[in-house]
Amino acid sequence: MVAARASDTAPKPAQLVDVAVVGAGFAGLYLLHRLRKAGFSTVALEEAGDVGGTWYWNRYPGARCDIQTIDYSYTFDPELDTAWTWSEKYATQPEILRYLGFVADRYDLRRDIRFRTKVTEARWDEAAERWQLTTDNGAPVSCRHYIMATGCLSAPKPPEIDGVKDFKGEVYFTGRWPHEGVNLAGKRVAVIGTGSSAIQSIPLIAEQAAHLTVFQRTPNFALPAGNGPAPEDRKTFFETDRAAYREQARQSMAGVPYPQQTVVSWQLSDAERRERFERAWAAGDLVHILTQLWADQAVDVDGNKIVQDLIREKIRAAVRDPETAAALTPHDHPFGAKRPCLDTNYYATYNRPNVTLVNLRQEPIKAITASGISTNSRNVDVDVIVFATGFDAMTGAIRAVHPITGRGAKSLTDVWAHGPQTYLGLTVEGFPNFFMITGPGSPSVLSNMAVSIEQHVDWVVDRLAALRDAGFTTIEPTEMAQAGWNRHMADCSMLTLHRLANTWYTGANVPGKVQGLMPYTGGVGPYRSICDEVTSRGMLGFKLT
Ligand code: FAD
Repeated sequence: MVAARASDTAPKPAQLVDVAVVGAGFAGLYLLHRLRKAGFSTVALEEAGDVGGTWYWNRYPGARCDIQTIDYSYTFDPELDTAWTWSEKYATQPEILRYLGFVADRYDLRRDIRFRTKVTEARWDEAAERWQLTTDNGAPVSCRHYIMATGCLSAPKPPEIDGVKDFKGEVYFTGRWPHEGVNLAGKRVAVIGTGSSAIQSIPLIAEQAAHLTVFQRTPNFALPAGNGPAPEDRKTFFETDRAAYREQARQSMAGVPYPQQTVVSWQLSDAERRERFERAWAAGDLVHILTQLWADQAVDVDGNKIVQDLIREKIRAAVRDPETAAALTPHDHPFGAKRPCLDTNYYATYNRPNVTLVNLRQEPIKAITASGISTNSRNVDVDVIVFATGFDAMTGAIRAVHPITGRGAKSLTDVWAHGPQTYLGLTVEGFPNFFMITGPGSPSVLSNMAVSIEQHVDWVVDRLAALRDAGFTTIEPTEMAQAGWNRHMADCSMLTLHRLANTWYTGANVPGKVQGLMPYTGGVGPYRSICDEVTSRGMLGFKLT
């Protein structure tokens, strides 16, 4: 045996940078670009083998965005905006991944990204006023500022079912789909889950598989995507005045350029409401149907119920077997309180002879066995199990870095023991120079995230540059500002119907997770104004040293 030399075992010297970014998805890439332009030395640490984030990991059949791609794009550089043209209204995962690769090349971002490198711990060193990051690959990092661009939907939720290890067939997770693809032809396939990834992939899996059995716990509202070229009216507005189009999105409620709807449901006749609904249904646009039907749909139970009933009619019309149609119809949450899905042929897929729906509300899964899945009333033998069981949303990837310790070695896990507490969804009291992009307490998953990410990144980098130029070395929110923001979050959430649904927005999908609505419901435009006001009032709510 050769004895280890002292140099092999000695701790690696830290990589010293002004700002460390974790993640190289939409947010991490834009951060790198902005930080460099602002004159900061920087590195991004990324667990994946390349850029893309969400669009690197989620390669399941049918993976697409569900915000129109014309809107789900960077807007910071008008030349970039014109250099790329999307082929479809809703681009596929490969096309979005190509786009993010194109952006990384265009701004030469990869040279500052350490791929296949996971950040495992982060500690604030009070004396040095620096964060010390531990990684699972290569040198640790010492940085003045630590920014988590780790994604809201990047920590897949492990299955909660016994026996997965006993299963002798193939097992896949939609959020970690193999890069080389999966051949499902002629196989008996089970899909567990009926959230967005399942709803996108089920029609394509059904086309390949000998038989597909879908195990559903909670049905979701799904709307037809009507994919194809970008709609003419949208394209015309965009091409006529791109700057105005982008600005309207930034000031909107959801990050998509729609005006605030002011007409309420009871001002419209039945015929007028139906006409609006049919137009929205045919438009194939999630944000349109969520925000443009009538103003009370997201805030009033009665206004919302009208939309729910109209969608239920559509489900009944699309699914031939009444029992299957009934099982697919949601009754346990207001429309929009849980993220609705966009689909292509989802409901019609249940009319295929090779597709079976198992309603877990009636026959819960008992266990996964060597040959398949057994419920209370049957055994379903399968060759492949696909878990489409979602994510530990918003806080999962942040808390996976453990510990994150701030002043006085306080751990973020302890500080968030009763749920995430933040100021603006961006910062946490007691954790100086620590930022989250689209963190809990920001509009994040209730918005077109491309718009929210750009707003966050611009705000953070502008503040860091101003801080440096003014000679400050630390920034952190006050306890009072954080408490005020959490109060404001709660007040806003009481005005919406989100409180009436148990969803991944509230942490209800993860056993043991503290429940509470995590995204800010006040809207993208109002949120932007608040952040701008914080700046214009001398960094209101922050301590600078
Ligand atoms: P991500 O893209 O999630 O990137 C985060 C990166 O951080 C990942 O690559 C991850 O590997 C890395 N990371 C995390 N923790 C660590 C660590 N400890 N160390 C090192 N690296 C780490 N949003 C929309 O607005 N519109 C849509 O249509 C839409 N469609 C979606 C479809 C799917 C299937 C999914 C899953 C999400 C979708 N989203 C959509 C949300 C989407 O996540 C965001 O739009 C956006 O891609 C988030 O970018 P991000 O950079 O913040 O995070």
